[in-house]
Amino acid sequence: EKLVEVKHLKKHFTMGKRSVLKAVDDVSFDIYKGETFGLVGESGCGKSTTGRTMIRLYDRTAGQVLFNGQDIHQLNAKEQIALTKNVQMVFQDPYASLNPRSTVAEIIAEPMDVHGLYTGKKRKPRIQELLEIVGLNRDHANRFPHEFSGGQRQRIGIARALSVDPDFIIADEPISALDVSVQAQVVNLMKQLQEERGLTYLFIAHDLSMVKHISDRIGVMYLGNIVELTSSASLYQKPLHPYTQALLSAIPIPDPDIEDKRERIILKGELPSPVNPPSGCVFRTRCPVAMAICASVKPSWTEVDDQHYVACHIFEGQQAKKTKEKIEQL
Ligand code: SF4
Ligand code: MG
Repeated sequence: EKLVEVKHLKKHFTMGKRSVLKAVDDVSFDIYKGETFGLVGESGCGKSTTGRTMIRLYDRTAGQVLFNGQDIHQLNAKEQIALTKNVQMVFQDPYASLNPRSTVAEIIAEPMDVHGLYTGKKRKPRIQELLEIVGLNRDHANRFPHEFSGGQRQRIGIARALSVDPDFIIADEPISALDVSVQAQVVNLMKQLQEERGLTYLFIAHDLSMVKHISDRIGVMYLGNIVELTSSASLYQKPLHPYTQALLSAIPIPDPDIEDKRERIILKGELPSPVNPPSGCVFRTRCPVAMAICASVKPSWTEVDDQHYVACHIFEGQQAKKTKEKIEQL
């Protein structure tokens, strides 16, 4: 059952008189109830802008975002506020996203204040309950953010998001600012909360290492486009897009006893500017296997295996082959 549907979403920013920054350029994906959808790509690829446009922190340039079938960008002001009861965000930097002058209790209470929930006598026990849910001490409510470590601050951010019992949480690189040793703890907490509460997540990350542990499906983004989309398992077992292969080759094998024989794919050149993206395939300036057609024709979306989609000319013939095989089997 679909909770969120993103359809041909575009978010362009006008820069001065002539230039347009195509941060998100025709992105489509669905998120099913109770799953985690991972959105992965280098910084600047448009993943945060996608997340923010999905909850209308930015107005869209084109396309649709449906939440429970309702177009978020057509809600009126009152409906928009009501939506934030169901959709909450956890931000990347737990140092910058918590007001240093507010107590933990005040921070966690922000969404509840917006929606007039757990007021009066219900407030204090609610905050204590939330602190315990995220693995913090219930007596910490009157402390300030600077008294906590990065991992604890992110737990506070999660408690704030949970305070209004949302259905959907957009976590924008929630672990990128944390020590590696703490990252797994926060991911495990998020997984546990998801199981207990039936939450649905959009989990945004800049590399594939942790995302695989939490995501059911993953979309790989490059320069405002999703270039590959499939289940977490098939993305790791059978990455198809040259960019996904490069991202995967950059993840170290965690066990030091296993010799890492894989060839590390080093991408040449820099991420091009989204103000002036390459013609044809957006990845072609860095693709190790680019062909002539890649400069002139944008690759279309091909379903190579069941529910495994890729946007690359190499695979376009395979779609035809698969369809032919299917027909022959009939
Ligand atoms: Fe590389 Fe061409 Fe495929 Fe783009 S379409 S990823 S440039 S081979
Ligand atoms: Mg970002």
